[in-house]
Amino acid sequence: MARTYNFSAGPAALPETVLSKVQEQMLEWGSAGMSVMEMSHRGKDFMQIAQAAEADLRELLSVPDNYKVLFLQGGATQQFSALPLNLSGPESSAAYILTGSWGKKALAEGARFCCAEALASSSETGFDRIPDLDSLTIDENAAYVHITSNETIGGVEYWDLPDTGSVPLVADMSSNILSRPVDVSKFGLIYAGAQKNIGPAGLTIVIVRDDLLGKAQSITPSMLNYEVQASAGSMSNTPPTFAWYFAGLVFRELLELGGLTAAAERNKRKAEALYQAIDNSDFYANPVQPKDRSYMNVPFTLADASLDGDFLAQAESRGLKTLKGHRSVGGMRASIYNAMPEAGVQALVDFMADFEKSQA
Ligand SMILES: *Cc1c(COP(=O)(O)O)cnc(C)c1O
Repeated sequence: MARTYNFSAGPAALPETVLSKVQEQMLEWGSAGMSVMEMSHRGKDFMQIAQAAEADLRELLSVPDNYKVLFLQGGATQQFSALPLNLSGPESSAAYILTGSWGKKALAEGARFCCAEALASSSETGFDRIPDLDSLTIDENAAYVHITSNETIGGVEYWDLPDTGSVPLVADMSSNILSRPVDVSKFGLIYAGAQKNIGPAGLTIVIVRDDLLGKAQSITPSMLNYEVQASAGSMSNTPPTFAWYFAGLVFRELLELGGLTAAAERNKRKAEALYQAIDNSDFYANPVQPKDRSYMNVPFTLADASLDGDFLAQAESRGLKTLKGHRSVGGMRASIYNAMPEAGVQALVDFMADFEKSQA
């Protein structure tokens, strides 16, 4: 067996310790006589797994009691439509702050169900930053303000939040949830697809404040209705049981490793090592304004793009996989979520230095 360092943006690397634990429990969970994948989601074994996962996630993020935590399907993309259907009327306005491709997609889908508009955007500078948040004028009647807390493709991350007053702040946290502590009480709603920083694809987490439930548009499919899902314990139908179980093991491990404060320290060390390697060289470049750089997704280019193919091939031969940038921006991208060990980032930094030298 040869496990590599996988820099994929998603589905992304998972903690090896958790994969091993799942392997151990594959044929029989506890003394259930079957694997988790074969259990009834309503049986007492799975109920125990589900409740422990939720309790651990609540502890990790210090989720206040007046928020529901939902374990859903459909990915973050499904939330692009579930969000306006639940929080706004067809005539309500909703404001989106655009910092890259995912925010644009969220807005385009949101506009199908309410009067969604861009409140601010950094598109003019190629989405290389968070727009100035102090100069925002927010319509008090807006149903919500939507941000993408980390733009996975462009590598732009919020380190401060906009002040939206009484208007609920909503965040697509797909690619930076659990990377550091966040004050959940500042948000009306947080959503995230699991396959970046939580677990396998197929699970979507929604954390929603109680007062935002019960306002869904009448056309909202029940499966997308947060209130329906909340009152059914996310079990209106069969939930993604395996992904939920796996996520629970990831939550438990994060708690055992010191929670999100410790995760933030590890992530800071990894990101700083990589950005330093980029900034200290004339051969590599990252286009994002330093104060808005992502600690999770680090895009970078080579001075000579004709070397991209060589770079990728040599990286691969050293066990450094999936460094190719998103097709929309080219270049390279290293996704260094929680599960990427510090040794993986060091191996990349060492390879980058060697590759640069070999070109001199
Ligand atoms: C990956 C990603 C999505 C899309 O997630 P799916 O689960 O594939 O729908 C949306 N937003 C962000 C920020 C992402 O990183």
